[in-house]
Amino acid sequence: MLAAYDSQLFIAGQWQRGSGRALPVENPATGEVIGHIAAATAGEVDAAVAAARRAFRPWARLAPKERGAALHRLGDAISARADAMARIMTSEQGKPLNEARGEILKLAEACHFYAEEAERVHGEIVPGATTDHESMVVREPIGVVGAITPWNYPAELIGWKLCGALAAGCTIVIKPAELTPFTALAIAEACMEAKIPAGVVNIVTGKGSEVGQALVEHRDIDKIAFTGSSAVGLHIQRTTPIVRRMSLELGGNCPLIVAPSADLDAAAKGAARRGFRNMGQICIAVNRIYVARPHYESFLDRLKGAVERLTIANGLERPDADLGAMASAEPLEKTKAHLADALDKGARLVAGGSAPEGETFARGHFFRPTVVADCTHEMKVMTEETFGPLVGVAPFDTLDEAADLANDTPYGLASYVYARDLNEVRALSQRLDYGNVAVNNVDAGVMNAPYGGRKQSGVGYEHGREGMLEYLNFKHIRIRYDEAR
Ligand code: NAD
Repeated sequence: MLAAYDSQLFIAGQWQRGSGRALPVENPATGEVIGHIAAATAGEVDAAVAAARRAFRPWARLAPKERGAALHRLGDAISARADAMARIMTSEQGKPLNEARGEILKLAEACHFYAEEAERVHGEIVPGATTDHESMVVREPIGVVGAITPWNYPAELIGWKLCGALAAGCTIVIKPAELTPFTALAIAEACMEAKIPAGVVNIVTGKGSEVGQALVEHRDIDKIAFTGSSAVGLHIQRTTPIVRRMSLELGGNCPLIVAPSADLDAAAKGAARRGFRNMGQICIAVNRIYVARPHYESFLDRLKGAVERLTIANGLERPDADLGAMASAEPLEKTKAHLADALDKGARLVAGGSAPEGETFARGHFFRPTVVADCTHEMKVMTEETFGPLVGVAPFDTLDEAADLANDTPYGLASYVYARDLNEVRALSQRLDYGNVAVNNVDAGVMNAPYGGRKQSGVGYEHGREGMLEYLNFKHIRIRYDEAR
């Protein structure tokens, strides 16, 4: 049991036992209940927003260097407790311990990155049409942010919002996913240790349809920063009661193109890693692969080999396993449904296709990484988001056809290309209608470059300087001078 955080909310710098109904949180590898969250009541949500509002002016008025120093302290506090936080994450999310630890360290990296960016917020002076006027364009923090986050990256997806917002001078109320609340509460503890002023960071727990929706409907929140499914993102856009800034980081269905000049071993290795890491529960997971026809069967052999080498285990028992449990029954059932749909429509099973056998896997949500070939766009795996360990593969004949197939989706988050010929690289990277294109690698998102989606994958950016600009407004101050003096 994670007794320390059981039923706790973090409001105005204090731990507070939530008064709402208790919701159990399970370890997805074993089904064991590891603790409870209290569904925050309307009054508790109000209290969190009011605390963030009270903290806003003093925080915004701090010198950027001081806000940066606070973020550096937070990064240090998080690094210092990386092992403990990783255990919490693995217990509630299922990913192997080493991977969870890596994510916590990336959260610390985000703190340090935005600590530096805090000092680089500046405006400009624009000359007027006449010499007695001048326009000052300054940037000001938006105000109170409501952040709503999913369960697949329980630390990083909070971190990008929290760090960008705090660096800009905003305060924040976070509603983490109900499956992974304790990682969020561990971040609150690090905030206390780092002496982030009371009210600057607040955390309320509970169901999205209640507590998340309460944040969306709250009129004293100046910006909503959401990461989650496209369906919920659209619902948030439709139900927000006031005009305000919003960033929506939504779903994906990401293609990987193995071009005629590709290094097939590298492509197969990259596809296995980005297709199945975190059990495919990644918005930028490789979901479908298009292979130049002459390489089709030899690529499938290589992919099968790379996928079958992936190790799968209870992530607490085997920290270095490649794969752990899926986070809940829901993505597992969707994966099975998309697999059945593909096989019904004529796909060929290349690897996986069932749960692993053995006592370790008897009670948790496990599935073997699965590859199906000969796929068409009639199959859900090729056009919808599976969010599980399933990848579809199909051949192509021309680069134009590959680009058309890759773009044939409502989503536009990340895409991948393996090609050694620079002309192929250029043709494909220009044609792909995606916010991120990774070429000869599968790391579509890095801390210092903007990361965001097109089409139904969202609006706005995280990472990089752009990730902080999402929390800043422009103000134009036009000044008339008395030229006689
Ligand atoms: P989800 O949309 O079901 O939930 C996300 C968050 O929204 C949770 O905290 C949930 O409680 C809350 N929520 C649900 N209904 C709500 C409502 N009516 N009002 C306000 N909040 C509400 O998504 P999920 O299942 O937690 O996460 C998986 C999804 O997240 C996938 O679609 C994935 O692609 C997406 N995702 C996107 C990115 C990105 O950067 N674009 C990153 C990670 C995950």
